[in-house]
Amino acid sequence: MQIYNSLTRRKETFKPIHEGKVGIYACGPTVYNYFHIGNARPFITFDVLRRQLEREGYEVTFVQNFTDIDDKMINRANEQGITVKELADRFIGEYWTDAKALGIRPATVHPRATEHMQQIIALIQRLVDNGHAYPGKNGDVYYRVSAFSGYGKLSGQNMEDREMGASERLDVETDKENPADFVLWKAQKPGEPAWESPWGMGRPGWHIECSAMSMTYLGDTFDIHCGGKDLLFPHHENEIAQSEGATGHPYVHYWMHNGFINVDGEKMSKSLGNFWTVRDISKEFDLEAVRMFMLSAHYRSPINFSHEQISEARTSLQRMYTARDRMRDLLTKAPDSALTADEQALLERVKEHERRFDESMDDDLNTAAAISAIFELVRDANAHLDQHSSRAAVQAVLDSFTALTGVLGFAQKDKLSDPTEQPIPEEIMQMAQERAEARKAKDWKRSDELRDAIKAAGYILEDTPQGQKVRKAT
Ligand SMILES: [Zn+2]
Repeated sequence: MQIYNSLTRRKETFKPIHEGKVGIYACGPTVYNYFHIGNARPFITFDVLRRQLEREGYEVTFVQNFTDIDDKMINRANEQGITVKELADRFIGEYWTDAKALGIRPATVHPRATEHMQQIIALIQRLVDNGHAYPGKNGDVYYRVSAFSGYGKLSGQNMEDREMGASERLDVETDKENPADFVLWKAQKPGEPAWESPWGMGRPGWHIECSAMSMTYLGDTFDIHCGGKDLLFPHHENEIAQSEGATGHPYVHYWMHNGFINVDGEKMSKSLGNFWTVRDISKEFDLEAVRMFMLSAHYRSPINFSHEQISEARTSLQRMYTARDRMRDLLTKAPDSALTADEQALLERVKEHERRFDESMDDDLNTAAAISAIFELVRDANAHLDQHSSRAAVQAVLDSFTALTGVLGFAQKDKLSDPTEQPIPEEIMQMAQERAEARKAKDWKRSDELRDAIKAAGYILEDTPQGQKVRKAT
């Protein structure tokens, strides 16, 4: 697989540290709210990376943390009059709900920062011991940027033009040796949750949490670290400084960053009123459509979110479901005949579509081209499979479809939901029930009358192999 490595700024052939195994760390959400569509993009993208690596035979250890202690968490918990832990527990629960609906698999491990204080403190201690960090007068501990010559190698930013991250700006720091130094440990302020440490009661900075948790589960050096482009600086730059400053070894071999999301052509922000959480969107769309929308573009390209785009993505997805259902239906009555020459040619083409899919995915996760390969397969299936097709042919095409859509996480459930759909009224369901009974009694006249009455009320009754179905006429 070719991966664009943000560290070297070029595509490189992926080579794992340990044959057949891959360790991946992805920065997870700060659990103070529902996550927004900007957060959803890396979750979906790197879930697909993991699935493709598994398809290629790797054993993947995928670690995605929960940031469950920081300024935003503390402020929000105070606003709501609950503890930080209560807030974290609630929004970790909400994370699972949305992640599941987006088709994001749980990671191998989801470490929480507050459950890794020992590892975090030990890492800071190592940095203090070897001169890469120093305690200030008030119980804060800072990273000494000048002690790490590799600072800036990821972002290209040097010490002089280093801006401070938003979370640090909140602190009034007075005893840093250098304005570029950043905080590893924050002394407790009144009313804040705190942990015991060699520097007094306090809590970790955000950057050190990710260094400590990633190395706990993946070792001092691991394969892939990923996240949104907005995390590249200072968060990931600081992670490198902390980890390599402590161990003296390279921290990560491949850094992957996804591009930004705009909403209706503008940067998403609360003040512009175009801020969308995934939960908001779930009130209108099956979230699988959001997944399709995200994967329809290359992960490093900026994308523009709009309702029209999600609606189009849903239509594409429905085509996949329809093709799948048709193949499943054909399979129930397919004859056990030998493959015809046409069917053999079809299966050859299907192999070709699979090859194109894998080539696209191996080209730095070109999911847009991989989706086109699936639609080539769908077109072939729709055009060349029918009730005369042999079981072996239908099964082979369906297996291939299932494997490829499985990597992207599409068409895995019974059907797409429509959250805006009104339930079918009770009286219509009643009429449908009566009609089923009339048919059973071979009372065709009554059966037709009821069907017409249902139609006149704006609903359509369909007889399917699974029984009758009622839906609203469109
Ligand atoms: Zn992180």
